[in-house]
Amino acid sequence: MEECIFCQIIKKAVPGDIVYEDDRFLAFKDIHPKAPIHLLVVPREHISSINDLQEKDEGLMGALILTAKKVAAKEGFSDSGYKLLFNVGRGGGQLIDHIHLHILSGGYGRPISEI
Ligand code: 5GP
Ligand code: ZN
Repeated sequence: MEECIFCQIIKKAVPGDIVYEDDRFLAFKDIHPKAPIHLLVVPREHISSINDLQEKDEGLMGALILTAKKVAAKEGFSDSGYKLLFNVGRGGGQLIDHIHLHILSGGYGRPISEI
């Protein structure tokens, strides 16, 4: 079976502009940014969608949000504020079937609400 594009970025089989990685997660720049800063945080584990989560994934998903917080601090836009977004299913705007948390920020000192 052909692997999804995010699994390929995780394996470094295709290039991704990676800003953070650890044993469970990666964060990389969205290829078509919808805000001045647009990052995606993904678990290394392939889970297709929020709809596919199981009880055992509770800890993983908590850690995913904490990773987004860590990335925002590392990249220096925590204080400017940011949005976190999951699209779920085609009707929810999800095009890539590997769970990803969008981080959208207006950038350094610019509130996202002004964009
Ligand atoms: P979705 O609509 O599934 O929630 O979001 C998928 C996101 O992945 C989109 O914002 C899209 O621009 C981004 N994307 C799609 N293909 C690639 C890719 O090959 N590399 C990167 N870095 N982002 C991608
Ligand atoms: Zn995948």
